[in-house]
Amino acid sequence: MVRRGIRARHVLAYDAGADSDPGRAAAHVLLTDAEVVVAGSRIVAVGPRGAETVDEVLDLGNVLLLPGLIDLDALADIDHTILDSWQSRELGLGLQWSRDYATHRRRAVFDAEERAFIREYSFVQLLLHGVTTAMPIASEAHSDWAETFDDAVAMAEVARRLGLRVYLGPAYRSGVNVVDADGTRSVYWNEELGRAGFDDAARFLDWAAEQESDLVHGALLPCRIETLSEELMRRTAELAAKTGVLVRLHALQGLLERRFILERFGAPPLEVLARTGLLGPDLLIPHAIYLDTHPRVDADTEVDLGTLAASGAAIVHCPLTSARHAAALDTFARYRAAGVRIALGTDSFPPDLVRGIDIGVTIAKVLAHRLDGATYADYLTAATLGGADALRRPDLGRLTAGATADLVAFRLDDHRDGVLDDPIRTLCMNSTGRATDFVMVAGRITVRDGVIPGVDLPAMTRRAQALFDRMRAAYSERDYLRRPTDELFPASFPAK
Ligand SMILES: [Zn+2]
Repeated sequence: MVRRGIRARHVLAYDAGADSDPGRAAAHVLLTDAEVVVAGSRIVAVGPRGAETVDEVLDLGNVLLLPGLIDLDALADIDHTILDSWQSRELGLGLQWSRDYATHRRRAVFDAEERAFIREYSFVQLLLHGVTTAMPIASEAHSDWAETFDDAVAMAEVARRLGLRVYLGPAYRSGVNVVDADGTRSVYWNEELGRAGFDDAARFLDWAAEQESDLVHGALLPCRIETLSEELMRRTAELAAKTGVLVRLHALQGLLERRFILERFGAPPLEVLARTGLLGPDLLIPHAIYLDTHPRVDADTEVDLGTLAASGAAIVHCPLTSARHAAALDTFARYRAAGVRIALGTDSFPPDLVRGIDIGVTIAKVLAHRLDGATYADYLTAATLGGADALRRPDLGRLTAGATADLVAFRLDDHRDGVLDDPIRTLCMNSTGRATDFVMVAGRITVRDGVIPGVDLPAMTRRAQALFDRMRAAYSERDYLRRPTDELFPASFPAK
C-alpha cells in the first residue's frame, strides 16, 4: 500500500495519554514542521517530517493541518438564515406555514432532481469549508411535508461521489408548526404522514446498512420535538435501540417549543425525551439552549443540566446560527463543567465552523464577563473530538496512528491573516473557513488547492441562485396573510 507523507508547517496531532487526564481540557497537541503518514484510509504515523519512510510526499507548506471538522447539524439546503433571521416578530410569523397552507395547499417547491442538486450544492460548500463528516439537516419548509427514502438515497449517493462522510436518513414528522388565521401559533397534525415518514426512515436504515461504505451511515433524524407524536418518539427510540443507530432530534430550541410541549405532555421537553425512551447516549440534541437554568425559561427547577449530563446525550451546538437567531448557550462553560457532551454544527449558511467557533468563543466570553469564558481549544475540541465522541467514532476527529485519515488544511499565508501567532488563534480570530486548502476524507483527497476536481462551481452557483429565487418567492403562498415577498423580505435600505 502506498504510504503518503502529508507535510505541514503546523499539525494538530493527538496525544492519547492526555485523554485520561481529567485536568486537561484538550487531547490535541501542536506540532511544528510535521508529517502525517497515510496508507489507504488510515493514518499510520504522525511526527516530525522525514521520520518515516514514505513513497510520496505532499508538502502543503504554511498551513494548519487539523483533523477534518465534524458538523452534526450540517447545512443541506441553499440558505435560509439570510431570509429568516432578522425580521420583526410580526413579519417572522409570515415565514411559517399557515394552517390553511398546511391543510389544503401544501406542495414541494423543488422536484426530486432539484432537491438532489441542492444537497450536492450544500455538500460542496461543506467540503470547501473543511467539513469531512456531516449529519445533514433538512429544510422541510420547502417540501410538501418532510423527506422521502429516495431523497436520502440521492443524498447518500452525492456524498459518496464527492467524498464526504454522512450520517443521514430522511427527516420525518407528524406535525408542522403553523400560524392560524388569527396570527396565533400552533401545530397542524397529520399522523398518517408521520407514520409514512417513519417507515421511509426505517427502510433507509436497512439500505444504508447494506452499503458497506464508511462514507454512508444511517441515522434517525426526526424533525423537531414539538412536531412528533408521542407514538413516533417511542417508535424512534425502539428502532434506535434495535438497530444501534443514533437519533438526532431538535429540542430545547425555543420558548414556543417549551410551551407547546408543556401544554401537550404536561411536562418539559427533557422529561418527555426521557419518558419516550429517547434520552440517552444515542441521542444528539441540536441547540439545547432553553434549559430550566436559562434566564428566559420560567421554571422553578434547576435540574436540566444535570439530567442532560447524566443521560449521556450529546448536544449539537450551532453558535453562528443560534446567535443569528438571538440565542446562545448559557453558558458554554457551565454545560462543560456539568459534563454535557458537546459537538458542533453549522445548521445553515455559511457552513463555516471556523466562524462558528469564533462567534461561540466570543459570546461565551461576553456571557461569562471573562476573557477565559471559553477558549478556541475548547471549541476546536468540540468540532473534532466532541463530534467523534457523539458519533461513537474514536477513529475520527484526531490525527494519530490508527485513526481514519480525515484531514483539513487551512492556509495561514494570506496577507489579510495578519501576523502569525498561535496558529489556532490566528485561524479562528483572523481568518475563516474559506482558507480551506486541502481536504482528505478516509484517505481520499477531495479538495486540493481549494478546489474540488470535477465540480463546476460557476454553473453550480448560477443554478443555486435560480432555485433560491424560486424558494424565496414561495414564502408568500405560505404566509397566513399572503403578503408579497417585498413585504416579507424588505431590503436593508429602500431601493431608489
Ligand atoms: Zn438546527
